[in-house]
Amino acid sequence: MKFLSAVVHSFGCSASGERLVSAARDGDFQEAQALLEYNPRLARYSTFGVRNSPLHYSAAHGHHEIVYLLLHSGVDINLRNYRGQTALMQACQHGHWEVVLILVLFGANVHKADYLNGWTALHLAATNGHSRCIRLLLADYIPSIPNFREIMSRQSTDSEESISEFDHRALSQIINQKADGGITALHMAALNGQVESVQLLLEFGASVSEVTVGDGTVIDLIGAGSTALHYAACGGNAKCCQLLIARGASLTTENENGWTPLMVSRSWNKSWLEDILTTEPVERPKLIPSRYISLPLMSIVQIAREYGWSSKSAPGCQDPCVVCLERKCTVAAGGCDHEFCTRCALYLCSTNCGTTISRGPPGSVSCPLCRNGIVSFVKLPGKALAKEIARTSLSFPICQCSHETPPKPTPLTTQLRSLELCRVHDTPLGIYFCCHKLPSISLCRKAPDICHSLVPRCANGNLQNHLSRC
Ligand SMILES: [Zn+2]
Ligand SMILES: [Zn+2]
Repeated sequence: MKFLSAVVHSFGCSASGERLVSAARDGDFQEAQALLEYNPRLARYSTFGVRNSPLHYSAAHGHHEIVYLLLHSGVDINLRNYRGQTALMQACQHGHWEVVLILVLFGANVHKADYLNGWTALHLAATNGHSRCIRLLLADYIPSIPNFREIMSRQSTDSEESISEFDHRALSQIINQKADGGITALHMAALNGQVESVQLLLEFGASVSEVTVGDGTVIDLIGAGSTALHYAACGGNAKCCQLLIARGASLTTENENGWTPLMVSRSWNKSWLEDILTTEPVERPKLIPSRYISLPLMSIVQIAREYGWSSKSAPGCQDPCVVCLERKCTVAAGGCDHEFCTRCALYLCSTNCGTTISRGPPGSVSCPLCRNGIVSFVKLPGKALAKEIARTSLSFPICQCSHETPPKPTPLTTQLRSLELCRVHDTPLGIYFCCHKLPSISLCRKAPDICHSLVPRCANGNLQNHLSRC
């Protein structure tokens, strides 16, 4: 009898687990929440065969609010499926940067490699050209300092020089981490013609001299001993080749087949690379800074981890954030001192594409109010109790509203939710949940150029003063 009840229970659990998987895959937040409230252990359910968990499904499909819900339910953030892939890898593969941001904030391991070919999340993001994900993966390695690029250029010319401002070695290790066959993220970005990603990886010190190895683990059509330039020559993207050459990639390096990059391009019929790969440029062209550097990211990620990033709406608070107009200002931009809530600052740094002109060093993020180039954010003292916020951020608000079933959310309909619903189901990065009062998000997604008209809407003397000062 006991055995029978255990079997029945396991079937019930399996059925609920499958329902949670479906909800995670389809982005049905209400269903996922109800199932987890019923049985929090369902978060650890995994499907038979591929052993994908609900966390994998929600990450792969970009449902960041469900990812947050599952993490809050205590699921192992580094859970692997049968291929050894974590949720972070799947989010990077598909370019779901909001999911990557949440996973990074929760401390996902960015070094993990899959079982199949040793690829990390960085390899997957680079292969598919998801530069924003690459930047978020490296959030803990790029310091929020104005002279970052200078330090990097000094490091590349004089490796003996030691810089104490950040751990250059740790950055070098993660950026040049090798998969099976010695393949780096730069190799894959170059092969696939991902110009922006190649540029960003080079910016962060990816080595142009790393070569593949013939260890029998991968079928290498180009040949072992190939550099990223060999791979770019095979892929056929002229811009990638030029970027690598500008960074010092050699035109004469031969791989183990005795092929130079030029010979690789000929064997793959990429005739348009002939000129680029034949003659060394007389003067090495200067690399244009990548649009995705985002210097202040590390500072705001650290603040978010320490103090939380989803303090509840504070209607009527004296200093509401001018971007979302509903949260307390908790951080200030270094330089101009304009104040924002942590969440908006996080978005500002994550969505920055360098398209707006900022008055600051390359990689600084343009302040939406005064165009000052923000290099770092600082926590505002005394604006909120640190522990209080931390607790609020990590406790997912439980629905206290009526038991009426709201319509199933879809990416489109969730944007049209009522404000009341938004507040009840607020998530730390719940852009779909705070539709009307969060103009910054829609602005940030394509054009981070937040207009000044946002400012006068807030009848706040301090802000006006700030503006007149800037
Ligand atoms: Zn805000
Ligand atoms: Zn400003």
